[in-house]
Amino acid sequence: MNRAKKKKETHVIAEERIEILFKLAEKAAITGDYTQAKYYLDVMWAIKTKFKISITKAQKVLFCRKCKNFMMSGKTARIRCEDGYQVVECLLCGEIRRYPLLKK
Ligand SMILES: [Zn+2]
Repeated sequence: MNRAKKKKETHVIAEERIEILFKLAEKAAITGDYTQAKYYLDVMWAIKTKFKISITKAQKVLFCRKCKNFMMSGKTARIRCEDGYQVVECLLCGEIRRYPLLKK
């Protein structure tokens, strides 16, 4: 009981950290510091893996699953729509991912 509660609290803290790291990465990417953005996402991924946190769809499209590059349209990523899919291409490592377009 007690241990389960503690585990849940840790989980909540980890989720908050992930959210903060995404925001920091975005800020860094906006200022053009992609190295720093990637660093934040590396840390985010480590926390996500360690605490087995699932991230949201919106968060998933923000970074490259392969090299943890922050995906910024026109800068570090090429984003286009194709057959009902959003195709995101990482311009750093060439990784291509397809996501079903979110229904409006
Ligand atoms: Zn990449």
